[in-house]
Amino acid sequence: MLRITGGKVYDPSNGIDGAVKDICIADGKIVADLDGGSSIDATGMVVFPGGVDVHTHVAGGALNFARGLVPETQRAARKFLHTSDRRSGLGGMTPTTFATGYLYAGMGWTTVNEAAVPILSARHTHEELHDIPLVDKTSLVLMANNELVLDLLEAGEIERAKQVVSWLVWAAKGYGVKAVNPGGVTAWKWGKNANTLFGPVEGYQKVTPARIISSLAEIVDALKLPHPLHLHCNNLGVPGNVATTIETMKVIDGHRAHLAHIQFHAYGGDDWSSMRSESVRLADAFNAQKNLTADAGVVLFGNAVTITADGPWQHLLYELTGHKWGNLDVENETGCGIVPYVYKDRNLVNAVQWAVGLELLLLIDDPWRICLTTDHPNGAGFWRYPEIVQLLTDAEFRKAQVKKLPPKAQQRIVLADLDREYTMSEIAILTSAGPARTLGLSQKGHLGPGADADVTIYHEKPENGRFFTSPRYVIKGGQIVVEDGDVRATTAGREFVVHPACDDQIEGYLRELFPKVYTMSFENYPVEIERLRHAQIQPCL
Ligand SMILES: [Zn+2]
Repeated sequence: MLRITGGKVYDPSNGIDGAVKDICIADGKIVADLDGGSSIDATGMVVFPGGVDVHTHVAGGALNFARGLVPETQRAARKFLHTSDRRSGLGGMTPTTFATGYLYAGMGWTTVNEAAVPILSARHTHEELHDIPLVDKTSLVLMANNELVLDLLEAGEIERAKQVVSWLVWAAKGYGVKAVNPGGVTAWKWGKNANTLFGPVEGYQKVTPARIISSLAEIVDALKLPHPLHLHCNNLGVPGNVATTIETMKVIDGHRAHLAHIQFHAYGGDDWSSMRSESVRLADAFNAQKNLTADAGVVLFGNAVTITADGPWQHLLYELTGHKWGNLDVENETGCGIVPYVYKDRNLVNAVQWAVGLELLLLIDDPWRICLTTDHPNGAGFWRYPEIVQLLTDAEFRKAQVKKLPPKAQQRIVLADLDREYTMSEIAILTSAGPARTLGLSQKGHLGPGADADVTIYHEKPENGRFFTSPRYVIKGGQIVVEDGDVRATTAGREFVVHPACDDQIEGYLRELFPKVYTMSFENYPVEIERLRHAQIQPCL
């Protein structure tokens, strides 16, 4: 039992905006009141619900491949030495599993969503997720280039497609459905892409990216999954792609959807030399469509590693940069590409990208519908979130950074014209309450009775002037796990999964089809629930 006294509480879900209020914890949950127990004096501090990351890449085959591809960033990385409280670990752009938990919790984040899991490597992904201490996790299953699903859409069998998606989500022990470059990753198996929403996907007559998107959004809603279809739009990263993004928003047609890393999808111009920000246009369209949420995918200058199922984009990035390139094929489900990258403020394209992420965060008017991400490690490491918070809360500081950009870049962005400063309450929404709601995790992102006791306590005026870098305390499930930014105790995180309704007949259909299309046997394909040693089934809506 624990009582936190004297702190200013920011709990936007419960309408609490900086009031000094006690927060009481018993048995890992927030409770209205309690007698006895220990207490923390949080006078001069602010109390937030633990951070929630709606889109990150922290485990699985692709990330492991990336770890092997960039040993140079790991040699230079922060090292966590083995102590009585923790295992050893290595930072760098693709931290090891233990270090991932220490770095997230050390910043005050207590729940993360691994945003791209091929079903074929789900077993491996869950082993790594299990290894990541301190934070709770969810994971999303890649579905927009799955040939079993696409073949059913081609045949017009939407009901059976729904049953297959439902079965596959449970087979992967996933939490939701991810769509990456719908149709484009399938086409990449023939060295092609899917650049237009309404043209047939390579190998199909009737299946188009638009049809994949609308069908999956419909299926996710029909299955009542707590998190909407999580969509990485076509034409990521390409000049002029804002048209595709806005067209995609229409295709979703009133269904729920979450648009991932929209910074990478808000560009104007005809080519790399004329590329410019179209954040105003995208934000206007987004503000008008209340069925949508998004995450920012902010780019910060410095090292990154781009990792995505979007194989054709990664090949293009490799051709543009000449950097190292890795490509993975995942049978008939998906693919993956990896290219290490450095964002430079002197580079015109990179400067525009940096501005676009911040512009969208400032131009999207409802903080409940936009979440803070860097699409780690694609735009920057997640541990750099405090830098973004500073840029959002301090307009003067932000404008000073814009002035350092090349004049040519400044003409192609609108960031210098934006005066908005996020309030503390809005930061709590952006980093915790909003992403928890978007994920459908009702026990996360707030400090009302019944919530998981994930609480982060920061100094109101931190010494280095940058909020979030070093929390005074992080409490996970009622236990103090971080003090002054240092890990003091290591707890295992849980994994939330969903078990949507599914027609029993579908297993027979898949069993018969399986040996014709997979190298793995049907019996070995589904991940057993027992493998997830800390699994918890989250109810569907
Ligand atoms: Zn991503």
